[in-house]
Amino acid sequence: MSAVPDAHAPALPSGSVIGPALPSGSVIGPALPPGSVIGPALPPGSVIGILGGGQLGRMSALAAARLGYRCHVLTEEADGPAAQVCAAITLGSHADPAVLRRFADAVSVVTFEFENISADGLELLASLRPVRPSAAILRTSQDRILEKRMLEAAGIPVAPWHAVPSRDALDAAADRLGLPMVLKTTRLGYDGRGQAVAHDPQALHAAFDRLAPHPLVAEALVPFAAELSVIVARGLDGTIRTFDAVQNHHRNHILDLTLAPAPVGPERRAAAQSLAARIAAHLDLVGLLGVEMFLDAQGVLLVNEIAPRPHNSGHWTLDACPVSQFEMHIRAVAGLTLPPAVRHSDAVMKNLVGPDDVALWPQIMATDGLLGHLYGKREARPGRKMGHVNRLFARDALPGRFGLADALGVLAAGDPDEGEGSEA
Ligand code: AMP
Repeated sequence: MSAVPDAHAPALPSGSVIGPALPSGSVIGPALPPGSVIGPALPPGSVIGILGGGQLGRMSALAAARLGYRCHVLTEEADGPAAQVCAAITLGSHADPAVLRRFADAVSVVTFEFENISADGLELLASLRPVRPSAAILRTSQDRILEKRMLEAAGIPVAPWHAVPSRDALDAAADRLGLPMVLKTTRLGYDGRGQAVAHDPQALHAAFDRLAPHPLVAEALVPFAAELSVIVARGLDGTIRTFDAVQNHHRNHILDLTLAPAPVGPERRAAAQSLAARIAAHLDLVGLLGVEMFLDAQGVLLVNEIAPRPHNSGHWTLDACPVSQFEMHIRAVAGLTLPPAVRHSDAVMKNLVGPDDVALWPQIMATDGLLGHLYGKREARPGRKMGHVNRLFARDALPGRFGLADALGVLAAGDPDEGEGSEA
């Protein structure tokens, strides 16, 4: 393994002096100082440990198997999506030090597929095995305040925001940001949970009382023209690869459709990818990162949040790229070189959420051109991500917004913009 521990940069404290932003297209050099010894790549047959047993672990394990690796998953779900396709399972809690030590003994390197894991536990693992991405990056991504400070320290634009520990701070934030305003829990929010949009002071105070624990984060409501995301990978040698920026549409706060590439023009896509690359370099990332952004009406990009793992908005890469986000993730974790993130086709990705969508599976399988992926979940509860479908198009031939229904065939589920602007 590498003789050099995975480097990571703690978030700069608030008030730190921030250097000038890297201009778009800058070459970002290797993170390790000259003369550093980079360990050999993980040999085929080695065991990659994955914390978490969901679909992201499943698809990572399938990509790892293709490269000759075995995956060992730490999960509490014996028959979960990842456990079904992994070579070995440790059943237990990622917060239990004894379980973590046993797990570390069985693997060569550790990664994770969800963020709701103990950062302390990950640090314990990091004392025993390389952990990629680092526990410090996980810690930052788990806390919206640390995350925003990190982004600002990296010179990345974010929506105006304030930490809100008290009602006084809430009123001060409302004065400065104006209404409507978005209130979010600092930790553990996802798919719209743990947040509220307040249009008047009364609703604002009610949301403050309802959302817990405090401090909360207050953000200006961004009247975005589009939600974009970029998957960025960074290797042990500092090589950075970004997949094409995509556009995301949500339904009931859950990702519904991804259009790849985002139909916003090559310059904006390049700008979005350059922001993601800058974040990866700033974090000394080794692994994969999903970066969610807003494109506002003036064409300005604001980063909303990061997720240091494969991302739902990158599932199109499974069919539209020679090397998917999952293979890129495994390559980075295993210390392999990262090939360019090439897109051979345009794609639309549609999530299959809950029992209604998954009931379409026989039709999907019977429809030419629809590429279905199921996650092996036994129970299709409402709101649960059960699988996804990709449909490919010739490069640069993705139908525009009004061609989407046609493009998706049986999956045409109304106007993809339905509900937009009310996602928070
Ligand atoms: P998040 O949990 O931060 O990813 O937010 C979930 C969704 O809420 C985003 O995908 C946006 O659709 C919406 N949202 C979050 N923050 C804002 C904001 N400041 N302005 C407008 N919409 C937002």
